[in-house]
Amino acid sequence: MTIAAHTLGCKLNFAETSDIISRFINAGWQQVDFNDTADLYVINTCTVTAIAEKKCRNAIRQATSANPDAIVAVIGCFAQNAPTEIAGIQGVDIILGNGQKHHLLEYVERFIADRHNVSNSELPSTNPEFHLAFSHADRTRTFFKIQDGCDYFCTYCAIPFARGRSRSATIDETVAMARKIAASGAKEVVLTGVNTGTFGINNGETLLQLTQQLDKIEEIERYRISSIEPNLLTNDIVDFVASSRAFLPHFHIPLQAGSDKILSLMHRRYNTDFYHRLLEKIKHVMPDACIAADIMAGFNGETEDEFEKVKQFVESLPISYLHVFTFSERPNTAVLKLDGRIAVHQRREHSRQLQAISDLKKQQFYKSQQGRSRRVLWESTVKENMIYGFTDNYIRVRQPFTPQSKQLVNTTTEFLLNHFIASDEVFE
Ligand code: SF4
Repeated sequence: MTIAAHTLGCKLNFAETSDIISRFINAGWQQVDFNDTADLYVINTCTVTAIAEKKCRNAIRQATSANPDAIVAVIGCFAQNAPTEIAGIQGVDIILGNGQKHHLLEYVERFIADRHNVSNSELPSTNPEFHLAFSHADRTRTFFKIQDGCDYFCTYCAIPFARGRSRSATIDETVAMARKIAASGAKEVVLTGVNTGTFGINNGETLLQLTQQLDKIEEIERYRISSIEPNLLTNDIVDFVASSRAFLPHFHIPLQAGSDKILSLMHRRYNTDFYHRLLEKIKHVMPDACIAADIMAGFNGETEDEFEKVKQFVESLPISYLHVFTFSERPNTAVLKLDGRIAVHQRREHSRQLQAISDLKKQQFYKSQQGRSRRVLWESTVKENMIYGFTDNYIRVRQPFTPQSKQLVNTTTEFLLNHFIASDEVFE
């Protein structure tokens, strides 16, 4: 039997898809490409924006029309929040929310036996399960899910409804899994979660304690902490990263709004002053650190006057680039009850302007690194006779592929950043 999977959304979803597929492979299934004919299509979905949901619908339609005899399973966040809508799509056989998706193999085996459609989007409110998982982006980099769920309930966010309360495994269990990742040969591990900074909240442990233990696994050369809430990125963690063996000077710190008024409407747990001071602290101890920030354009209250303040604030930050999202209301979120809605065309215009600021910031960051020598982990990707990699501070670089380059794959070398190729956002 063959299985084909398509994943939408975050790195967490990718790690979980890998984990689910490996269960099928252990049971004798064979994985094929999503564009090939398969006996089972799995779509691991995302609900973060209206666009993400549209992509899910398209992927589901692609699967249902690819092979009329195939089983189609829709799992994950969109399946959690919109099971009735998905059940209305012809050809979908199994719908599992986040509480059940790790049991997909059992659901599929039951479906093969009795051919009864299944929909289960129950998310236990107490003691939901936690599954450690990891995925290989390629031979060099691995996304490692160390945490799931969120207790914050920001007013725009549907994720706590889709993934439940914050939870994680113990440090001992997490370190044991990291040793398995190390044994697989991965040199770089990206720690991911929904609200990574709340790691250990259910066990009386902390993210700082985890990072200190992970740093001792010598076979893993590099760690990145993916996204972490500003109020949870403590001075202790920043200082530890600066002095650690393997944690890299690269941070992804959601800002979401550059205005105290809007941050408060969003129920975020920091203000602009706090955020600014945090970034200054990071740059003080790691001057070459890459800092990325998520920001939402067009949330309630972002009038033209307020947006001018947002732009000024973002321009003042020592960030390397932004991930800009255009705000769209998600079902059941608290924002639906708030005043101050912004017209959709204004949201898009704000988004465009923030993207322009981001492009400029990125150019400035790259320019600041020109002429520097940084350590690069080389990947197996070869495009147009070039081999690619990332510096410790997350700059994509390339050099000509030669017969000797094969030996570079999955190793780190010092690399001089001397020629910036703007269109590809890479250094040569
Ligand atoms: S911290 Fe806020 S934005 Fe992030 S997942 Fe939790 S509720 Fe959503």
